Amino acid sequence: MKKPKLKLYNTLTKKKEIFKPLKNKLVRFYACGPTVYDYPHIGNLRAYVAEDILRRTLELNGYKVKHVMNITDVGHLTSQADEGEDKVELAARKHKKTAWEIAEFFTKVFLDNLKTLNIKMPHIMPKATEHIKEMIELIKKLEKKGYTYRIDDGIYFDTSKLKDYGKLTGMNFKQLNRYLKAGARVPFNPQKRNITDFALWKFSPKDVKRQMEWPSPWGIGFPGWHIECSAMSMKYLGNTFDLHAGGEDHIPIHHTNEIAQSEAATGKPFVKYWFHVAFLLVNGKKMSKSLGNYYTLQDLLDKGYGWREIRYALMSAHYRQQLNFTLRGLESAKRSVERIIEFMRRLRDYSNGKKHKTFHKILTRYKYKFWKEINNDLNMPKALAVLFEFINKVNKLMDQKKISKGDAKKAIKLMLWFDQILGLKLDEILKEERKLPKEAEELIKLREEARKKKDYKTADKIREELRKKFGIILEDTKDGVRWKWEK
Ligand code: AMP
Ligand code: ZN
Repeated sequence: MKKPKLKLYNTLTKKKEIFKPLKNKLVRFYACGPTVYDYPHIGNLRAYVAEDILRRTLELNGYKVKHVMNITDVGHLTSQADEGEDKVELAARKHKKTAWEIAEFFTKVFLDNLKTLNIKMPHIMPKATEHIKEMIELIKKLEKKGYTYRIDDGIYFDTSKLKDYGKLTGMNFKQLNRYLKAGARVPFNPQKRNITDFALWKFSPKDVKRQMEWPSPWGIGFPGWHIECSAMSMKYLGNTFDLHAGGEDHIPIHHTNEIAQSEAATGKPFVKYWFHVAFLLVNGKKMSKSLGNYYTLQDLLDKGYGWREIRYALMSAHYRQQLNFTLRGLESAKRSVERIIEFMRRLRDYSNGKKHKTFHKILTRYKYKFWKEINNDLNMPKALAVLFEFINKVNKLMDQKKISKGDAKKAIKLMLWFDQILGLKLDEILKEERKLPKEAEELIKLREEARKKKDYKTADKIREELRKKFGIILEDTKDGVRWKWEK
Protein backbone atom coordinates (compact mmCIF):
# COMPACT_ATOMS: atom_id res chain seq x y z
CA MET A 1 0.00 0.00 0.00
CA LYS A 2 1.27 3.43 -0.93
CA LYS A 3 1.57 5.70 2.09
CA PRO A 4 -0.32 9.00 1.84
CA LYS A 5 1.77 12.14 2.34
CA LEU A 6 1.43 14.03 5.60
CA LYS A 7 0.26 17.61 5.15
CA LEU A 8 -0.08 20.17 7.93
CA TYR A 9 -1.37 23.71 7.95
CA ASN A 10 1.40 26.07 8.97
CA THR A 11 0.29 29.33 10.62
CA LEU A 12 3.56 30.94 9.58
CA THR A 13 3.05 30.45 5.84
CA LYS A 14 -0.78 30.29 6.02
CA LYS A 15 -0.64 27.21 3.82
CA LYS A 16 -1.07 23.48 4.07
CA GLU A 17 2.41 22.10 3.50
CA ILE A 18 3.93 18.67 3.03
CA PHE A 19 5.56 17.93 6.34
CA LYS A 20 9.29 17.37 6.26
CA PRO A 21 11.34 17.50 9.45
CA LEU A 22 14.62 19.40 9.52
CA LYS A 23 16.59 16.28 10.38
CA ASN A 24 15.72 12.86 8.94
CA LYS A 25 12.95 11.11 10.87
CA LEU A 26 13.21 13.04 14.12
CA VAL A 27 10.55 15.64 14.92
CA ARG A 28 11.42 18.16 17.59
CA PHE A 29 8.10 19.30 18.97
CA TYR A 30 7.35 21.97 21.61
CA ALA A 31 3.88 22.59 22.99
CA CYS A 32 3.07 25.46 25.33
CA GLY A 33 2.04 23.90 28.60
CA PRO A 34 -0.35 25.03 31.30
CA THR A 35 -0.06 27.82 33.80
CA VAL A 36 -0.51 25.87 36.99
CA TYR A 37 -2.75 28.08 39.13
CA ASP A 38 -6.13 26.37 38.78
CA TYR A 39 -7.92 23.31 37.38
CA PRO A 40 -7.66 23.12 33.58
CA HIS A 41 -11.02 23.46 31.84
CA ILE A 42 -11.97 21.30 28.89
CA GLY A 43 -11.16 24.19 26.52
CA ASN A 44 -7.54 23.94 27.63
CA LEU A 45 -7.79 20.19 27.33
CA ARG A 46 -9.07 20.45 23.77
CA ALA A 47 -5.73 22.00 22.82
CA TYR A 48 -3.82 19.13 24.47
CA VAL A 49 -6.03 16.47 22.87
CA ALA A 50 -5.44 18.04 19.43
CA GLU A 51 -1.68 18.10 20.07
CA ASP A 52 -1.92 14.46 21.11
CA ILE A 53 -3.58 13.60 17.78
CA LEU A 54 -0.76 15.49 16.07
CA ARG A 55 1.91 13.52 17.92
CA ARG A 56 0.13 10.22 17.27
CA THR A 57 -0.14 11.06 13.57
CA LEU A 58 3.57 11.84 13.36
CA GLU A 59 4.35 8.54 15.07
CA LEU A 60 1.98 6.62 12.81
CA ASN A 61 3.94 8.04 9.87
CA GLY A 62 7.13 6.58 11.27
CA TYR A 63 8.62 9.70 12.82
CA LYS A 64 10.30 9.70 16.18
CA VAL A 65 8.92 12.61 18.15
CA LYS A 66 10.79 14.45 20.88
CA HIS A 67 7.93 16.16 22.69
CA VAL A 68 8.64 18.96 25.16
CA MET A 69 5.94 20.73 27.16
CA ASN A 70 6.68 23.39 29.71
CA ILE A 71 5.00 24.00 33.02
CA THR A 72 4.49 27.73 33.63
CA ASP A 73 4.78 28.06 37.38
CA VAL A 74 5.82 31.72 37.43
CA GLY A 75 5.56 34.87 35.34
CA HIS A 76 2.14 34.50 33.68
CA LEU A 77 0.32 37.70 34.60
CA THR A 78 -3.42 38.28 34.75
CA SER A 79 -3.18 40.75 31.87
CA GLN A 80 -1.60 40.02 28.49
CA ALA A 81 -0.06 43.51 28.57
CA ASP A 82 2.57 42.61 31.21
CA GLU A 83 0.39 44.19 33.86
CA GLY A 84 -1.53 42.73 36.74
CA GLU A 85 -0.62 39.99 39.11
CA ASP A 86 1.21 36.74 38.73
CA LYS A 87 -1.53 34.09 38.42
CA VAL A 88 0.27 31.60 40.68
CA GLU A 89 0.99 34.14 43.43
CA LEU A 90 -2.60 35.35 43.27
CA ALA A 91 -3.94 31.80 43.67
CA ALA A 92 -1.56 31.26 46.60
CA ARG A 93 -3.09 34.20 48.45
CA LYS A 94 -6.61 33.06 47.63
CA HIS A 95 -6.01 29.51 48.92
CA LYS A 96 -3.68 30.55 51.76
CA LYS A 97 -0.91 28.32 50.44
CA THR A 98 2.56 29.06 49.16
CA ALA A 99 3.04 29.71 45.46
CA TRP A 100 5.18 26.57 45.33
CA GLU A 101 2.42 24.46 46.85
CA ILE A 102 -0.12 25.84 44.38
CA ALA A 103 2.15 25.09 41.43
CA GLU A 104 2.88 21.58 42.66
CA PHE A 105 -0.77 20.81 43.32
CA PHE A 106 -2.08 22.02 39.95
CA THR A 107 0.79 20.42 38.04
CA LYS A 108 -0.33 17.13 39.50
CA VAL A 109 -3.96 17.83 38.57
CA PHE A 110 -2.86 18.64 35.02
CA LEU A 111 -0.82 15.43 34.68
CA ASP A 112 -3.73 13.40 36.07
CA ASN A 113 -6.02 15.00 33.47
CA LEU A 114 -3.61 14.04 30.68
CA LYS A 115 -3.49 10.47 31.97
CA THR A 116 -7.27 10.23 32.29
CA LEU A 117 -7.75 11.34 28.69
CA ASN A 118 -5.01 8.98 27.48
CA ILE A 119 -2.90 11.87 26.17
CA LYS A 120 0.66 10.70 25.56
CA MET A 121 3.03 12.17 28.11
CA PRO A 122 5.58 14.64 26.74
CA HIS A 123 9.13 13.29 27.04
CA ILE A 124 10.37 16.38 28.86
CA MET A 125 8.29 18.74 31.03
CA PRO A 126 10.55 21.58 32.15
CA LYS A 127 9.37 23.93 34.87
CA ALA A 128 9.94 27.64 34.40
CA THR A 129 11.20 28.07 37.98
CA GLU A 130 13.97 25.55 37.29
CA HIS A 131 15.27 27.41 34.21
CA ILE A 132 15.78 30.95 35.48
CA LYS A 133 19.50 30.77 34.64
CA GLU A 134 18.79 29.97 30.97
CA MET A 135 16.28 32.82 30.77
CA ILE A 136 18.74 35.33 32.22
CA GLU A 137 21.37 34.17 29.73
CA LEU A 138 18.96 34.71 26.86
CA ILE A 139 18.03 38.20 28.05
CA LYS A 140 21.74 39.04 28.38
CA LYS A 141 22.24 38.05 24.75
CA LEU A 142 19.37 40.30 23.68
CA GLU A 143 20.78 43.14 25.78
CA LYS A 144 24.17 42.77 24.14
CA LYS A 145 22.61 42.98 20.71
CA GLY A 146 20.71 46.13 21.65
CA TYR A 147 17.16 44.81 21.67
CA THR A 148 16.32 45.68 25.28
CA TYR A 149 15.54 48.78 27.33
CA ARG A 150 14.82 49.42 30.96
CA ILE A 151 11.75 51.08 32.46
CA ASP A 152 10.50 51.38 36.05
CA ASP A 153 9.02 47.90 36.30
CA GLY A 154 11.38 45.82 34.20
CA ILE A 155 13.51 45.08 31.16
CA TYR A 156 11.60 45.18 27.88
CA PHE A 157 12.09 44.00 24.32
CA ASP A 158 11.95 46.76 21.70
CA THR A 159 9.82 45.18 18.96
CA SER A 160 10.47 48.01 16.51
CA LYS A 161 14.09 46.82 16.21
CA LEU A 162 13.12 43.60 14.46
CA LYS A 163 12.20 44.03 10.83
CA ASP A 164 9.77 41.13 10.53
CA TYR A 165 8.17 41.44 13.96
CA GLY A 166 4.64 39.98 13.92
CA LYS A 167 5.12 37.79 10.85
CA LEU A 168 3.11 34.97 12.45
CA THR A 169 0.02 37.16 12.50
CA GLY A 170 0.14 38.17 8.85
CA MET A 171 0.11 41.81 9.98
CA ASN A 172 2.96 44.27 9.67
CA PHE A 173 4.34 46.22 12.60
CA LYS A 174 1.93 49.14 12.21
CA GLN A 175 -1.13 46.98 11.72
CA LEU A 176 -0.26 44.84 14.71
CA ASN A 177 0.22 47.92 16.88
CA ARG A 178 -3.18 49.22 15.81
CA TYR A 179 -4.74 45.80 16.42
CA LEU A 180 -3.38 45.57 19.96
CA LYS A 181 -4.37 49.16 20.77
CA ALA A 182 -7.92 48.45 19.66
CA GLY A 183 -8.12 45.31 21.80
CA ALA A 184 -6.34 46.70 24.89
CA ARG A 185 -8.38 46.36 28.05
CA VAL A 186 -5.99 48.47 30.13
CA PRO A 187 -4.14 51.57 28.93
CA PHE A 188 -0.60 50.55 28.15
CA ASN A 189 2.32 51.61 30.28
CA PRO A 190 3.39 54.99 28.80
CA GLN A 191 7.04 54.18 29.44
CA LYS A 192 6.84 51.40 26.87
CA ARG A 193 8.10 52.52 23.46
CA ASN A 194 5.56 50.46 21.51
CA ILE A 195 2.41 48.70 22.61
CA THR A 196 3.86 45.50 21.13
CA ASP A 197 6.95 45.69 23.41
CA PHE A 198 6.96 43.09 26.16
CA ALA A 199 8.66 42.34 29.44
CA LEU A 200 11.64 40.02 29.48
CA TRP A 201 12.32 40.51 33.17
CA LYS A 202 10.02 42.15 35.69
CA PHE A 203 11.19 43.66 38.96
CA SER A 204 9.58 42.55 42.18
CA PRO A 205 7.17 45.27 43.34
CA LYS A 206 8.49 47.49 46.14
CA ASP A 207 5.41 47.28 48.34
CA VAL A 208 4.59 43.55 48.26
CA LYS A 209 6.93 40.70 48.91
CA ARG A 210 6.84 38.09 46.16
CA GLN A 211 7.31 34.43 47.03
CA MET A 212 8.96 33.57 43.74
CA GLU A 213 11.80 35.95 42.89
CA TRP A 214 15.43 35.71 41.84
CA PRO A 215 18.47 37.97 41.63
CA SER A 216 19.52 39.05 38.14
CA PRO A 217 21.99 41.53 36.59
CA TRP A 218 19.09 44.02 36.43
CA GLY A 219 17.59 43.58 39.87
CA ILE A 220 15.52 41.14 41.89
CA GLY A 221 12.48 39.92 40.00
CA PHE A 222 11.04 37.20 37.81
CA PRO A 223 10.98 36.31 34.11
CA GLY A 224 8.32 37.31 31.58
CA TRP A 225 6.09 34.50 30.39
CA HIS A 226 7.29 34.59 26.77
CA ILE A 227 11.01 34.30 27.54
CA GLU A 228 10.29 31.12 29.48
CA CYS A 229 9.10 29.26 26.40
CA SER A 230 11.99 30.52 24.24
CA ALA A 231 14.61 29.55 26.80
CA MET A 232 13.20 26.13 27.55
CA SER A 233 12.32 25.13 23.99
CA MET A 234 15.76 26.06 22.66
CA LYS A 235 17.51 24.39 25.58
CA TYR A 236 15.90 21.03 24.84
CA LEU A 237 15.33 21.21 21.08
CA GLY A 238 18.03 23.50 19.69
CA ASN A 239 17.92 27.01 18.20
CA THR A 240 15.81 25.87 15.27
CA PHE A 241 13.29 23.09 15.65
CA ASP A 242 10.43 21.54 13.71
CA LEU A 243 7.12 22.13 15.34
CA HIS A 244 5.57 24.46 17.91
CA ALA A 245 1.97 24.21 19.09
CA GLY A 246 -0.56 26.05 21.23
CA GLY A 247 -4.04 27.53 21.29
CA GLU A 248 -5.01 30.11 18.66
CA ASP A 249 -4.99 32.88 21.29
CA HIS A 250 -1.19 32.59 21.37
CA ILE A 251 -0.68 33.77 17.79
CA PRO A 252 -0.66 37.59 18.18
CA ILE A 253 1.26 37.90 21.45
CA HIS A 254 2.86 34.88 23.07
CA HIS A 255 4.12 33.10 19.98
CA THR A 256 4.85 36.31 18.11
CA ASN A 257 7.07 37.33 21.02
CA GLU A 258 8.69 33.92 21.31
CA ILE A 259 9.72 34.21 17.65
CA ALA A 260 10.95 37.80 18.09
CA GLN A 261 13.23 37.20 21.05
CA SER A 262 14.51 33.79 19.86
CA GLU A 263 15.36 34.95 16.35
CA ALA A 264 16.83 38.22 17.62
CA ALA A 265 19.08 36.27 20.01
CA THR A 266 20.26 33.51 17.68
CA GLY A 267 19.95 35.12 14.25
CA LYS A 268 18.40 31.85 13.06
CA PRO A 269 14.84 30.82 12.21
CA PHE A 270 13.15 29.64 15.40
CA VAL A 271 10.51 27.12 14.23
CA LYS A 272 9.60 25.57 10.89
CA TYR A 273 5.91 24.69 11.44
CA TRP A 274 3.42 26.46 13.72
CA PHE A 275 0.32 24.52 14.77
CA HIS A 276 -2.63 26.30 16.39
CA VAL A 277 -5.76 24.82 17.89
CA ALA A 278 -9.05 26.70 17.61
CA PHE A 279 -11.11 27.52 20.67
CA LEU A 280 -13.71 25.49 22.40
CA LEU A 281 -16.77 27.74 22.67
CA VAL A 282 -19.83 27.88 24.85
CA ASN A 283 -22.80 29.63 23.25
CA GLY A 284 -20.47 31.22 20.75
CA LYS A 285 -18.02 32.58 23.36
CA LYS A 286 -14.57 31.23 24.22
CA MET A 287 -14.67 28.84 27.17
CA SER A 288 -12.60 30.62 29.78
CA LYS A 289 -11.97 31.06 33.46
CA SER A 290 -12.77 34.75 33.32
CA LEU A 291 -16.24 34.24 31.78
CA GLY A 292 -16.98 31.37 34.16
CA ASN A 293 -18.56 29.37 31.31
CA TYR A 294 -16.44 26.28 31.74
CA TYR A 295 -16.42 22.65 32.78
CA THR A 296 -13.42 20.88 34.22
CA LEU A 297 -12.76 17.25 33.37
CA GLN A 298 -13.93 16.25 36.84
CA ASP A 299 -17.24 18.15 36.37
CA LEU A 300 -18.04 15.95 33.38
CA LEU A 301 -16.84 12.73 35.00
CA ASP A 302 -19.07 13.59 37.97
CA LYS A 303 -22.01 13.90 35.60
CA GLY A 304 -21.41 10.28 34.65
CA TYR A 305 -19.62 10.69 31.33
CA GLY A 306 -16.72 8.36 30.63
CA TRP A 307 -13.25 9.57 29.70
CA ARG A 308 -13.57 8.02 26.24
CA GLU A 309 -16.69 10.07 25.53
CA ILE A 310 -15.03 13.30 26.65
CA ARG A 311 -11.92 12.59 24.61
CA TYR A 312 -14.07 11.72 21.61
CA ALA A 313 -16.12 14.93 21.92
CA LEU A 314 -12.94 17.02 22.02
CA MET A 315 -11.21 15.30 19.11
CA SER A 316 -14.08 14.75 16.71
CA ALA A 317 -14.16 18.28 15.27
CA HIS A 318 -11.37 19.60 13.06
CA TYR A 319 -8.70 21.18 15.24
CA ARG A 320 -8.75 24.42 13.20
CA GLN A 321 -12.51 24.76 13.55
CA GLN A 322 -13.96 26.32 16.65
CA LEU A 323 -16.13 23.82 18.46
CA ASN A 324 -19.24 24.76 20.37
CA PHE A 325 -19.42 22.59 23.46
CA THR A 326 -22.81 21.31 24.62
CA LEU A 327 -23.93 18.41 26.78
CA ARG A 328 -26.01 17.30 23.82
CA GLY A 329 -22.80 17.08 21.77
CA LEU A 330 -21.32 14.99 24.54
CA GLU A 331 -24.35 12.67 24.41
CA SER A 332 -23.78 12.16 20.72
CA ALA A 333 -20.08 11.43 21.39
CA LYS A 334 -21.24 8.87 23.92
CA ARG A 335 -23.35 7.09 21.32
CA SER A 336 -20.46 7.04 18.86
CA VAL A 337 -18.13 5.55 21.45
CA GLU A 338 -20.74 2.94 22.33
CA ARG A 339 -21.00 1.92 18.69
CA ILE A 340 -17.23 1.50 18.47
CA ILE A 341 -17.11 -0.53 21.66
CA GLU A 342 -20.06 -2.72 20.65
CA PHE A 343 -18.31 -3.39 17.37
CA MET A 344 -15.10 -4.44 19.15
CA ARG A 345 -17.04 -6.83 21.39
CA ARG A 346 -18.91 -8.26 18.46
CA LEU A 347 -15.68 -8.90 16.52
CA ARG A 348 -14.14 -10.51 19.57
CA ASP A 349 -17.14 -12.77 20.18
CA TYR A 350 -17.85 -13.56 16.55
CA SER A 351 -17.47 -17.25 15.95
CA ASN A 352 -18.63 -18.48 12.61
CA GLY A 353 -19.13 -17.62 8.97
CA LYS A 354 -17.48 -18.30 5.66
CA LYS A 355 -14.05 -16.95 4.86
CA HIS A 356 -14.41 -13.82 2.72
CA LYS A 357 -12.38 -14.07 -0.48
CA THR A 358 -11.46 -10.41 -0.79
CA PHE A 359 -11.60 -9.26 2.83
CA HIS A 360 -7.96 -8.16 2.79
CA LYS A 361 -8.85 -5.73 0.01
CA ILE A 362 -11.59 -4.20 2.13
CA LEU A 363 -9.15 -3.84 5.02
CA THR A 364 -6.49 -2.22 2.89
CA ARG A 365 -8.98 0.16 1.34
CA TYR A 366 -10.25 1.44 4.69
CA LYS A 367 -6.79 1.64 6.17
CA TYR A 368 -5.68 3.81 3.28
CA LYS A 369 -8.78 6.02 3.39
CA PHE A 370 -8.42 6.65 7.12
CA TRP A 371 -4.70 7.35 6.81
CA LYS A 372 -5.28 9.73 3.93
CA GLU A 373 -7.78 11.77 5.91
CA ILE A 374 -5.71 11.94 9.06
CA ASN A 375 -2.65 12.87 7.00
CA ASN A 376 -4.61 15.65 5.38
CA ASP A 377 -4.02 18.19 8.15
CA LEU A 378 -5.52 15.84 10.76
CA ASN A 379 -9.00 15.74 9.29
CA MET A 380 -10.64 13.89 12.18
CA PRO A 381 -14.27 14.39 11.10
CA LYS A 382 -13.52 12.66 7.81
CA ALA A 383 -11.30 10.00 9.37
CA LEU A 384 -14.10 9.17 11.81
CA ALA A 385 -16.59 9.00 8.94
CA VAL A 386 -14.31 6.41 7.31
CA LEU A 387 -14.14 4.49 10.58
CA PHE A 388 -17.93 4.28 10.84
CA GLU A 389 -18.24 3.32 7.19
CA PHE A 390 -15.90 0.44 7.97
CA ILE A 391 -17.88 -0.54 11.07
CA ASN A 392 -21.16 -0.57 9.12
CA LYS A 393 -19.68 -2.59 6.30
CA VAL A 394 -18.20 -5.27 8.58
CA ASN A 395 -21.33 -5.39 10.76
CA LYS A 396 -23.35 -6.18 7.65
CA LEU A 397 -20.90 -8.90 6.64
CA MET A 398 -21.18 -10.40 10.11
CA ASP A 399 -24.99 -10.28 9.97
CA GLN A 400 -24.85 -12.26 6.77
CA LYS A 401 -22.13 -14.61 8.10
CA LYS A 402 -19.99 -13.61 5.18
CA ILE A 403 -16.73 -13.41 7.09
CA SER A 404 -14.89 -16.01 9.16
CA LYS A 405 -13.53 -15.79 12.68
CA GLY A 406 -10.10 -15.28 11.13
CA ASP A 407 -11.44 -12.33 9.12
CA ALA A 408 -12.92 -10.84 12.29
CA LYS A 409 -9.50 -11.09 13.92
CA LYS A 410 -8.02 -9.13 11.04
CA ALA A 411 -10.72 -6.49 11.44
CA ILE A 412 -9.76 -6.24 15.13
CA LYS A 413 -6.16 -5.68 14.09
CA LEU A 414 -7.19 -2.81 11.85
CA MET A 415 -9.34 -1.29 14.62
CA LEU A 416 -6.29 -1.36 16.90
CA TRP A 417 -4.30 0.30 14.16
CA PHE A 418 -6.92 3.10 13.97
CA ASP A 419 -6.74 3.32 17.73
CA GLN A 420 -3.13 4.46 17.53
CA ILE A 421 -4.71 7.76 16.49
CA LEU A 422 -8.02 7.58 18.37
CA GLY A 423 -6.40 6.71 21.70
CA LEU A 424 -9.56 5.05 23.02
CA LYS A 425 -7.72 2.04 24.51
CA LEU A 426 -9.73 -0.40 22.43
CA ASP A 427 -7.38 -3.22 23.43
CA GLU A 428 -8.88 -2.98 26.92
CA ILE A 429 -12.30 -3.82 25.52
CA LEU A 430 -10.89 -7.06 24.18
CA LYS A 431 -9.56 -7.97 27.61
CA GLU A 432 -12.88 -7.36 29.38
CA GLU A 433 -14.49 -10.43 30.79
CA ARG A 434 -16.97 -11.78 28.28
CA LYS A 435 -20.53 -12.03 29.43
CA LEU A 436 -22.85 -14.81 28.41
CA PRO A 437 -25.44 -13.37 26.00
CA LYS A 438 -29.02 -13.42 27.36
CA GLU A 439 -30.24 -15.68 24.59
CA ALA A 440 -27.48 -18.20 25.26
CA GLU A 441 -28.39 -18.19 28.94
CA GLU A 442 -31.99 -19.04 28.01
CA LEU A 443 -30.86 -21.83 25.70
CA ILE A 444 -28.71 -23.41 28.42
CA LYS A 445 -31.74 -23.40 30.72
CA LEU A 446 -33.93 -25.01 28.06
CA ARG A 447 -31.32 -27.67 27.45
CA GLU A 448 -31.17 -28.48 31.16
CA GLU A 449 -34.92 -28.96 31.17
CA ALA A 450 -34.74 -31.22 28.12
CA ARG A 451 -32.03 -33.32 29.76
CA LYS A 452 -34.08 -33.66 32.92
CA LYS A 453 -36.90 -35.00 30.77
CA LYS A 454 -34.36 -37.32 29.11
CA ASP A 455 -35.11 -35.64 25.78
CA TYR A 456 -31.51 -36.03 24.57
CA LYS A 457 -32.34 -35.26 20.99
CA THR A 458 -33.48 -31.73 21.84
CA ALA A 459 -30.60 -31.33 24.29
CA ASP A 460 -28.07 -32.18 21.57
CA LYS A 461 -29.75 -29.84 19.13
CA ILE A 462 -29.52 -26.96 21.56
CA ARG A 463 -25.88 -27.77 22.35
CA GLU A 464 -25.08 -27.58 18.65
CA GLU A 465 -27.00 -24.32 18.30
CA LEU A 466 -25.01 -22.78 21.14
CA ARG A 467 -21.77 -23.77 19.50
CA LYS A 468 -22.73 -22.53 16.08
CA LYS A 469 -24.43 -19.32 17.05
CA PHE A 470 -22.34 -18.17 19.99
CA GLY A 471 -19.20 -20.29 19.95
CA ILE A 472 -20.11 -21.73 23.35
CA ILE A 473 -19.07 -25.25 24.28
CA LEU A 474 -21.04 -27.14 26.95
CA GLU A 475 -19.56 -29.76 29.21
CA ASP A 476 -21.71 -31.99 31.37
CA THR A 477 -19.92 -32.70 34.62
CA LYS A 478 -21.12 -34.47 37.71
CA ASP A 479 -21.60 -31.03 39.35
CA GLY A 480 -23.87 -29.96 36.51
CA VAL A 481 -23.35 -28.22 33.22
CA ARG A 482 -20.35 -25.93 32.57
CA TRP A 483 -19.78 -23.70 29.57
CA LYS A 484 -16.72 -22.19 27.92
CA TRP A 485 -15.88 -20.19 24.82
CA GLU A 486 -14.76 -22.08 21.77
CA LYS A 487 -11.13 -21.19 20.94
P1 AMP B 1 -3.20 28.50 29.78
O1 AMP B 1 -3.06 27.52 30.90
O2 AMP B 1 -4.20 29.58 30.04
O3 AMP B 1 -1.86 29.04 29.32
O4 AMP B 1 -3.83 27.70 28.54
C1 AMP B 1 -3.36 26.45 28.15
C2 AMP B 1 -3.68 26.17 26.70
O5 AMP B 1 -5.09 26.11 26.47
C3 AMP B 1 -3.17 27.25 25.75
O6 AMP B 1 -2.57 26.61 24.63
C4 AMP B 1 -4.41 28.02 25.37
O7 AMP B 1 -4.28 28.60 24.12
C5 AMP B 1 -5.45 26.93 25.36
N1 AMP B 1 -6.84 27.40 25.57
C6 AMP B 1 -7.32 28.26 26.51
N2 AMP B 1 -8.66 28.41 26.41
C7 AMP B 1 -9.05 27.61 25.37
C8 AMP B 1 -10.33 27.31 24.75
N3 AMP B 1 -11.48 27.82 25.18
N4 AMP B 1 -10.34 26.45 23.73
C9 AMP B 1 -9.18 25.89 23.28
N5 AMP B 1 -7.97 26.13 23.81
C10 AMP B 1 -7.89 26.98 24.84
ZN1 ZN C 1 4.62 29.14 25.38
